[in-house]
Order: sequence, then structure tokens, then C-alpha cells
Amino acid sequence: MPTPIVSKRAAIYADVPDEKWNDWRWQLSHRLNTAEDIEKVIPLTESERKALQTQGLFRVDITPYFISLIDSDDPNDPVRKQIIPVAEELNAFTAMMEDSLAEDRHSPVPGLVHRYPDRVLMLVTTQCASYCRYCTRSRIVGDPGQTFNRQEFEMQIEYLKRTPQVRDVLLSGGDPLVLAPKILEELLTRLREIPHIEIVRIGSRVPVFLPMRVTQELCDMLAKFHPLWLNIHVNHPNEITRELAEACDRMTRAGIPLGNQSVLLAGVNDCVHLQRELVQKLTRIRVRPYYLYQCDLVEGAGHFRTPVAKGIEIIEGLRGHTSGYAVPQFIVDAPGGGGKIPVMPNYLVSMSDHKIIVRNYEGFVTTYEEPTQYAMHDPKTCKFCQNKRPEPGQSGLTGLLDGDEMFIKPEGFDELHDRGGIQHRLKDENKWKPLGIGSGESTD
Ligand SMILES: *Cc1c(COP(=O)(O)O)cnc(C)c1O
Repeated sequence: MPTPIVSKRAAIYADVPDEKWNDWRWQLSHRLNTAEDIEKVIPLTESERKALQTQGLFRVDITPYFISLIDSDDPNDPVRKQIIPVAEELNAFTAMMEDSLAEDRHSPVPGLVHRYPDRVLMLVTTQCASYCRYCTRSRIVGDPGQTFNRQEFEMQIEYLKRTPQVRDVLLSGGDPLVLAPKILEELLTRLREIPHIEIVRIGSRVPVFLPMRVTQELCDMLAKFHPLWLNIHVNHPNEITRELAEACDRMTRAGIPLGNQSVLLAGVNDCVHLQRELVQKLTRIRVRPYYLYQCDLVEGAGHFRTPVAKGIEIIEGLRGHTSGYAVPQFIVDAPGGGGKIPVMPNYLVSMSDHKIIVRNYEGFVTTYEEPTQYAMHDPKTCKFCQNKRPEPGQSGLTGLLDGDEMFIKPEGFDELHDRGGIQHRLKDENKWKPLGIGSGESTD
């Protein structure tokens, strides 16, 4: 076990008996959500008070455990900024969008986002243990009148049954680990009945907001559904407490590989040195940093945005400087539904037909000689090439390299270039598919 970090309890909780404090039901039912409540724990700034008194604000709810991690004397505390709203949350900014990832457009049935060829995102609840102010799904999350919707769930299961290309289901929301244990178990059972679903993943901040929810009983239940993976969401070293470390240890011992997805947030974790400490602390509790996300263009999150360059600077400060296991991928989730795009420093400096020039993290510039002879891989005799899974319309640049596709055309390309008169000269070349990805072969 890593060095335990003695966890804190805000002064007002000093007299709460341990068995209550460590009971996740007590924590959930004592969450704080009004200026009046929160002020009993930490003095509020003008900006925070104003935001908390605004009607129609994205839901506020904070577990006593998590609010206790705040240094009440520090108005810039990094935990505080993640969960207590400020007046800037009410500001609009250019490029702001309600559904910035175009998830709604990618939903074949409500609550199921099918964006990538072989995996889906399943939104199983709108509830969380506490609410992150920069939530990418604030348009649907937090609605107190809604939780697990059985009718939608049945539609999601039906879609998965009839869609054999889906081999990976990612449960998210909201937070799947706030579901009633029986419902979560039923949900996992139903997914496991579908033979083509190979892995199930859970995205959850419960271990961070409410580590006492990760009981041995819950871990034993989850372990029945292997292979099951889980990503937590830690943004700052102050969130890595003894309680979180113990919750992660229970999950790891139950055979659940743990990853971390964090969000790059101005004033919270936009520092190379802080990030280095964060990822090293995560690996000590056996959590593998998975993704570091650029903040989405979501309503209420404008004041959290950093330039993309900050993320590149952070990766520059991690790769080579610390264990490869500790280095996450920096991801820009492209607005408009473009999906997750990794962005990183350039290591390839130049190339010729026989060597490449690369640089390492120290700035050492070197060359790598390309082989003069390469017995080319032969797809005709390779059983993996022969049996590759089709990815209709989504094979992307791999499809171009594979030779199955010849080009990817921007929308409207053919119309733009069809300026008349050209047909009779380029009759044969004009047999391309009209839109999107062309096959390179005649379509008639
Ligand atoms: C993030 C996400 C996934 C999972 O992406 P990975 O890169 O495989 O972790 C799947 N579907 C949607 C819609 C997502 O946003």
C-alpha cells in the first residue's frame, strides 16, 4: 500500500460517528447543495454565493467526504473549483455548445451513443455522487426527476443484441456506481447474456467522491462480470486520499484493471509539475493514467478552458521524464462529433527515403536507418488480414493504407468540382462514389 494520506473531515463533521461517516448511504443523504449548507463548511466567496443563488444552475451536490478535502482558507483550492459553482459559470463564450460532442446525433436509441465501429457508450443514469462544474453532459446529467429508465434500457439492450459489431460497452451517465446495487447487477447480467459483448467498462467518479461506496460486497458483485474494466476520474493530487487508495486496492484485488481519465482545467491542474505528481501518485495506487482531456466546449465551463498547447506542454513534461505507464494520452474530443483525437508533441523531426530523424525528450536528435530490404507483409497469406472485421464507413485512414479505399472526400467535393464540360473528357475517372468515402472502384 502507498503511504497513507490522513484524510480530513471538515470541522462540522467532527462528531459524526465513524460508522455513519463511512456509510455511503449516509454520505449520499447528507450531500450539500445550497449556499446555506455549504457556508457551514467553508466561507463562500461573493462569486460562489451569487452562483449558488441563481435559478436554473447546473445541479450542485457535494458529499461531506469530498467537501472535506477543501482547504477552507483557500478560495483557489483545486477541489473547491471542481464542485462549487462560481459566477463565471453563467457566462456564455464563443464556440460554446450544448451537446458539444454531438452525442445526441450518434444515438440510435435514447441513452446509447454509437460513435465508433466496435464500441458504444451507454448512459445508464443521470445521477452522480457529486457534480463536476465542467461536466460535458450537463445538458442531461443531474435532473433529479430522472434516474435509471427501464424502458430506455430495454431499447438499448435490443439495439446491442442486433448489432454484433459492438464488442465493448462503456457504462457511463451520470455515474453507474450510484445505481441501486440490484439494478447495476441486473444491468451487467443482461449485458453479459449478449455473446458478442467481449468487455464491459465502467466510467465512475464514485471512488473519488464517495470511496466508501466501493465496498467489498460491490467488488465481489462486479467481479462476477469479468472482463470488466473501470476508469476513475482524478484531477489533482489532493483527491488521492487513504480512502481512495483503499477503494482502488479493493477493486484491483477483485481483478478490475483501473485507469484514470482527467480533464485539463485552468486553475486546477494546468501545471506540468502538478501533473507529474498526479500521475506518479496514481500509479502508486495501481491506477494507470489513461486520458487527459482538453476541456470540452460546454456551457458553464468557459472559465476552465486552457489552450490546447498547455496539454502538449504537459505531455512533453511527462514522456521520458517519468514511467511510461504514468503517461496518459492527451485527447481533444473534437466538437461536432469528431470523436477523441490524440494530440502530442512531435518527435519525428524529418525523414528521407532511407532514414528518419527523431528527437527524444532531452532534445537529443538522432537518426534511425530504415531497412534496405523489407519482405513486405503479404495480406493474401495472413489470416488476420483475411478475417479482418469490416468497419463500414469508418475504416478511415487505415482503410486508405489498406488499399480498400482510395480517398476520403470532404462533403460537397464532387458538386464543387463538377463545373460542367469535364464529364466528356474524364468519363472514366468520373465513376467515383458521389459522397463521403469512395471505394476507388467503379460504382456502377
Ligand atoms: C470515449 C468514448 C468511447 C470510448 O473511447 P475509447 O477511446 O475506446 O476509450 C466510446 N464511445 C463514445 C461515444 C465515447 O465518447
